[in-house]
Amino acid sequence: MPPFVDKAEVQAESEDALEKLVAPQAAPRKFQVVYRNLVTFGLAHLSALYGLYLAVTVAKWYSVFFCIFLAIVAGIGVTAGAHRLWTHRAYKAKMPLQIILIVMNSLAFQNSALDWIRDHRLHHRYSDTDADPHNATRGFFYSHIGWLLVRKHPEVKRRGKFVDLSDVYANPVLTFQKKYAIPFIGTICFLLPTVIPWYYWGESLYVAWYLTMLRYVYSLHVTFLVNSAAHLWGNKPYDKYIKPVQNLYVSFFAYGEGFHNYHHVFPWDYRTAELGNNWLNLSTLFIDFFAWVGWAYDLKTVPDDVISARAERTGDGANKWGFGPEEKGR
Ligand SMILES: [Zn+2]
Ligand SMILES: [Zn+2]
Repeated sequence: MPPFVDKAEVQAESEDALEKLVAPQAAPRKFQVVYRNLVTFGLAHLSALYGLYLAVTVAKWYSVFFCIFLAIVAGIGVTAGAHRLWTHRAYKAKMPLQIILIVMNSLAFQNSALDWIRDHRLHHRYSDTDADPHNATRGFFYSHIGWLLVRKHPEVKRRGKFVDLSDVYANPVLTFQKKYAIPFIGTICFLLPTVIPWYYWGESLYVAWYLTMLRYVYSLHVTFLVNSAAHLWGNKPYDKYIKPVQNLYVSFFAYGEGFHNYHHVFPWDYRTAELGNNWLNLSTLFIDFFAWVGWAYDLKTVPDDVISARAERTGDGANKWGFGPEEKGR
């Protein structure tokens, strides 16, 4: 049983009983600010802004390219790792690929992957209600970053206890990252990206540190956009009755994760999009490459006729790319 489960509470409330109660969409609530998070995020953002200033004024070109490269690697550690592999089990990965992915994921440092997976499974199960950690019904700011600055909604805590994480706790790669989070994630996300530019091409430690903060904050916002913009602005060619949308811009920045109306309808598809193999879906290309190597296997997709039938039945008839004129009929 996961350590955060309170046994007494589990006995008092059964999962079945909870399932019958629909979580409220966005009931009036009092926000309790978590000042530690507010200060940490505030400082990180100021550092990132200063990092941006240094990047365009004094940083060496090598350092800037290194920073961009790491941002992409970190992003794919979230999309292909924590998201598609570990949360949705949309494909399987052999141990060497899981190790590569946990290193890439640690570079992004969005909590431990284990906590990320719990939140994301809850997000899919109770999308856009009070039991969704980043409930987009509360608007852009809350679903983007606000949810991290206030105490969790009681519905999130209440229903979070029942998220099945048995596969996650049985995975040594994920439990290792959680157990050694501070030294492991600290080294990969902050220490090495600061020391490498200094050691290899003589960047100042000062500049390298602020570029690291810039990369870190940038990567956070890329993920946040999937929770905010991709639940608010775009069209719904697969299911017009849900909030998630197709948003091409988010897909560009989030390596293919902005085709979010599709993803919420078919979360087990490893491509997180119908149009998987394209330049906007770097995460899919990454998984395809490792499938070719033989380290990724059992890639799950949805048959075209199933997708078309669903789009026909519940879609809004819009362009499935998430941009351009509305296309009636497909
Ligand atoms: Zn979503
Ligand atoms: Zn998902």
